Amino acid sequence: MDRVDCVVIGAGVIGLAVARRLAQTGREVIVLEAAEGIGTVTSSRNSEVIHAGIYYRAGSLMARMCVSGKHALYRYCEEHGVPYRNSGKLIVATTPKETEKLQSIRAHAEANGVLDMQLLSGDAAHALEPALNCDAALLSPSTGIIDSHAYMLSLRGDAEAAGAAFAFHTPLLRAKAAAGRIEVETGGEAPMTLACDLLVNAAGLGAPAVARGIEGVPLEFIPCAYLAKGNYFSCSARAPFSRLIYPVPEPGGLGVHLTLDMAGQARFGPDVEWVESIDYAVDPARADRFYPAIRKYWPGLPDGALMPSYSGIRPKIVPPAVATQDFLIQGPRDHGVTGLINLFGIESPGLTSSLAIADYVGELV
Ligand SMILES: Cc1cc2nc3c(=O)[nH]c(=O)nc-3n(C[C@H](O)[C@H](O)[C@H](O)COP(=O)(O)OP(=O)(O)OC[C@H]3O[C@@H](n4cnc5c(N)ncnc54)[C@H](O)[C@@H]3O)c2cc1C
Repeated sequence: MDRVDCVVIGAGVIGLAVARRLAQTGREVIVLEAAEGIGTVTSSRNSEVIHAGIYYRAGSLMARMCVSGKHALYRYCEEHGVPYRNSGKLIVATTPKETEKLQSIRAHAEANGVLDMQLLSGDAAHALEPALNCDAALLSPSTGIIDSHAYMLSLRGDAEAAGAAFAFHTPLLRAKAAAGRIEVETGGEAPMTLACDLLVNAAGLGAPAVARGIEGVPLEFIPCAYLAKGNYFSCSARAPFSRLIYPVPEPGGLGVHLTLDMAGQARFGPDVEWVESIDYAVDPARADRFYPAIRKYWPGLPDGALMPSYSGIRPKIVPPAVATQDFLIQGPRDHGVTGLINLFGIESPGLTSSLAIADYVGELV
């Protein structure tokens, strides 16, 4: 049986960042990916926002990794020529009641180490973004946007330059932990078996299923998978904003917000739709909820301007009734299986946190 130091399952942004990190520390790495190329699943179905780290529970992995990952990601983009824009974002209160909440949002951000938030009067916010309807706003200067595909290509290039190899169309079927190493069995056109010292499960939505397929992993450590779809609408009219615009969050989500891609094209969403199975079609009828939500902060949104665009699915590991989840990263000390690292529930801000997650995995190793 062939042997390799490390096998990484999944070539999304997390598997790519982990493979790069492990290869750059001198390990022999092979990445097994079920799809035909890198980043075809959740990593290409998101908002491409570099999040500041405002809302996550203080002390959570999400809060810590978002803030450190954000700094690392801006540095990485600068050094590797990955297109990004430090656009900033406004959290917009449209009523005095919402305005009262802005102070506590700022305090929460500060507890997470986001120290640059600025409280703006309605007039000051209006001066920045004249099309806004706004009572007051919080400016987050460290929020930005990134070309996530260019980023993933760059991570793959770094990993390959450090010796990592990629096998596409190669799903992991099952694995077995035995005698301090892990034997993996793949499907695809060229099935193989492979022994490794380290197996990193970065299979995104498929991570719980992959973990269940590894003989020797106690089932009580494997979370249930839940799917929370996020639908996006694009806008046929030019949206007259240069920053990202978010409403004051509501229970269960961030509210219908406006983000921009690197070409300046506006998109609205994602909303939250709990689903039973993976289906990326966007129901045009959902626009009925988007119009009133958007018009609270952008009254000028023309009738008929919203068009169904794309969707992504959040890899949830808690059911709808639970308000928040954290990243769940398990090493041998958690589940007792030598050489296995499972990454569960890597939803937003996973893209922003990718380099920090890779460092964390590197340290666990
Ligand atoms: C709607 C939405 C919006 C988001 N917006 C943002 C944002 O603006 N900013 C931000 O920081 N984060 C955002 N995120 C989060 C971010 O997109 C994810 O955290 C990140 O893409 C997860 O990457 P991943 O590599 O874990 O998963 P994926 O990209 O899904 O990659 C997993 C890979 O594993 C492969 N795989 C699965 N099973 C197997 C198997 N058995 N064998 C081999 N390969 C397998 C899959 O084919 C896939 O390529 C958003 C997420 C969603 C859903």
